[in-house]
Amino acid sequence: MCSGFHQAKWTKSKEVLEPTVFELSKEGKTGILPLPEEEFFKKLYLSLEKKIPEVILRQQKPNLPELTEVEVVRHYIRLSQMNFSVDQTIYPLGSCTMKYTPKILQYIPNLVANLHPQQPEETVQGLLEILYKLEKWLCEITGMDRFTLQPAAGANGEFTGVSIIKAFHKFRGEGGKRTEIIIPDSAHGTNPASAVMGGFKVVTIPSGEDGCINLDALEYALSERTAAAMITVPNTLGIFEKEIQKVSKLVHNYGGLMYMDGANMNALLCKVRARDMGFDLMHLNLHKTFASPHGGGGPGAGPVGVKGELKDFLPVPLISKKGNKYILDYNVPHSIGKVRSYYGNTEVLIKAYIYIYMLGFEGLNKVSDMAVLNSNYLYRRLIKEKKLFDPVYSPGNVRKHEFVVSLAEVGAGKINVADVAKRLLDYSLYPPIINFPLIMKNCLMIEPTECETKENLDGYCQALLEIMKEAETNPEKVKKAPFKASIGRLDEVKASRHPILSWKMFLNKMKG
Ligand SMILES: *Cc1c(COP(=O)(O)O)cnc(C)c1O
Repeated sequence: MCSGFHQAKWTKSKEVLEPTVFELSKEGKTGILPLPEEEFFKKLYLSLEKKIPEVILRQQKPNLPELTEVEVVRHYIRLSQMNFSVDQTIYPLGSCTMKYTPKILQYIPNLVANLHPQQPEETVQGLLEILYKLEKWLCEITGMDRFTLQPAAGANGEFTGVSIIKAFHKFRGEGGKRTEIIIPDSAHGTNPASAVMGGFKVVTIPSGEDGCINLDALEYALSERTAAAMITVPNTLGIFEKEIQKVSKLVHNYGGLMYMDGANMNALLCKVRARDMGFDLMHLNLHKTFASPHGGGGPGAGPVGVKGELKDFLPVPLISKKGNKYILDYNVPHSIGKVRSYYGNTEVLIKAYIYIYMLGFEGLNKVSDMAVLNSNYLYRRLIKEKKLFDPVYSPGNVRKHEFVVSLAEVGAGKINVADVAKRLLDYSLYPPIINFPLIMKNCLMIEPTECETKENLDGYCQALLEIMKEAETNPEKVKKAPFKASIGRLDEVKASRHPILSWKMFLNKMKG
């Protein structure tokens, strides 16, 4: 795959160091083509410069690189090739659903890019109509009564939800009493973090042998201190919580609310609704289930949906319809306030709107069929080689959009799962999430999504099996991978504690 192609290099060795634009710069080079009216522009700039007060004029030329246009384009294209992307290769991030984004979804949001968020309502009726309809569709998909589109990510949505839970209990005079949120041990790390940020104590409950919530453990954890249970369905092992309605009943019996982490709805779209499972409120990750690339922490949208009286606590403004006008609606009696500026992350919201619009109910239903089929196909093919992968929780049972497998003796002794992930890069394949959920050791969490063909899945499977074989015959090699990528093994702690993100930081580092 992709032989002959080599990535831009960024290593310590001088000969192969990819130059920065500053190093490529030569005085006098320029990317601007001489225009026929050049004299005209010169005069214009000069006359403008005269209008700028002396004190704020630059005293010296800014230190900018000077290159031709073609040099700049090639430089950045090369740098972009240091990254993997879903447009290049399968990107099977478990839990984080990185699916291909149809190009039309990238194009249409540009059409509204020139709107200003402070424009009067009557001049952005088209945009408001899109957001209004998107909310209606999200309500239909989940069974919730209203959604706020403001939160900019899943975690932002969780914090919004937790704040609503808090405000709701406070309003009912139980604020001081309901101080705990129950979260299963397989949960995404943002769940406990959001609960703690909202001022709650987290009560963790263990998963049963089938990977699902253990009802006895739940019952033991429940009390009049329970504010809510935060539950991911399907859970992060890719297993549907088959007792979810019983769980909801138990939590409700104790006066708690049911919060659904709906970050990944890829297995549930048009199959089952949060409301029917017994949830009172939830968030969706539009940037996962409804496309939108979201590398490096953004951009995202994590709308929060609520049922019944909880809608009186949503952030303001909501988008409502008055006569035939769309309005920003501040009439929310117990609103928790704002959780993000303006309309939310409009670009991602519009992408989700087009995604739903194009697919319709039938299409979304099929997305979920294909996502589950793809994940189970790959799962079955991998676990058939029993020696290689050793699933812990009810092995062989149907998974939903994703599955988790862990390395058996072969890997466990000689190599670990990070070595496998690094070796995959040499096959031009993006590695899955590793070492998550925390309840499984040395594991890979794989979510192929509905977009991949059978050939792609077979290729991925083949690569993993080859790596496992190599781990037996030549473990030292696997431990040194990757060989073809631009960077080998990063010092991950150092990279996150002391990041060098700009030319200035780079120069300072060289000086010091
Ligand atoms: C991704 C994810 C989140 C957090 O969403 P962000 O947009 O990354 O903040 C929460 N829960 C689950 C299950 C997720 O997969």
